Amino acid sequence: MLNLVFLGPPGAGKGTISRILSGELNIPALSTGDIFRDEIASETDLGKKVQKIVSSGALVDDETVAQIVKHRISKSDCQNGFILDGYPRTIPQAEKLEQMSKETGKKINAVVNLNVAEEELVKRISGRRKCQKCGNLFNVNTIQEHKGLTHCPECKEKLIQRDDDKPEIVLDRLKVYEKQTKPLLKFYSDKNILITVNGEGPVEQVAARTKSKILETADKK
Ligand code: AMP
Repeated sequence: MLNLVFLGPPGAGKGTISRILSGELNIPALSTGDIFRDEIASETDLGKKVQKIVSSGALVDDETVAQIVKHRISKSDCQNGFILDGYPRTIPQAEKLEQMSKETGKKINAVVNLNVAEEELVKRISGRRKCQKCGNLFNVNTIQEHKGLTHCPECKEKLIQRDDDKPEIVLDRLKVYEKQTKPLLKFYSDKNILITVNGEGPVEQVAARTKSKILETADKK
C-alpha cells in the first residue's frame, strides 16, 4: 500500500505530477481543490457553501475537508493506496489525518514537497488555463506550444482561468500557504517521511525525480 501526500505552494505542480504518478503507480490522485471545484460547478449544497471561500483563495474549514477526505479514502479504489493532492493544508488537518490513518490502518508512507521559486510560481499560476469542455490543462506562460492559445486545440472551446488564479488572488493564496501550510514541512520532517523534490524543469523530469524518491523512501519504511 502506498499512501502519499503532496505538499507545496500553489503552482508547484502538485496536480500535474500527482496525476502522472497516479497513472504510473496505479493509485488514484485525490485533489480536494478539484472536489470543491466540481461541487461548485454542479451547484450542490457543499458547492454553494464553499464557493466564496474557494474563489477568494482562503481555506475551507478543517471539519468540512476532513469529512470529504475520510469519505473519499474509504472507497474501494484506494485499497492499494492514494495520493492526496492539497490535503492536509494546516496543522489541525495533519493531526486529523494522523488520527484517520490510525483508525483505518492507512499509514502515510511519504510526503512530497515540490520546491519551486516564488517568481516561477506566480508565472505558472497566472498562465494556467483549462478547457471548459475536456478539462485539459494549458500554460500560456511557461509552455512554448501553449503561448497565445485562447481556445482548446482539440475541442475548440474557450480556455478559462480559475477565479483564484487571477492576479489579485494569487498573492493571497501564497500568503495562506506560507502561514498555514508551510509549518507542515517541519511536522512531516520530524516524522522522517518528508521528501523535498526540485519542482523546476521539464514535467517528465520532475515526475521521474519524484517517483524515484518516493520509492526509495517507501522502501525504507
Ligand atoms: P487547490 O486546487 O489545491 O489549489 O485548492 C483550491 C482551493 O480549494 C483552496 O484555495 C481552498 O479554498 C480549497 N481547498 C482545497 N484543499 C483544501 C484544504 N485541504 N483545506 C482547506 N481548503 C482547501
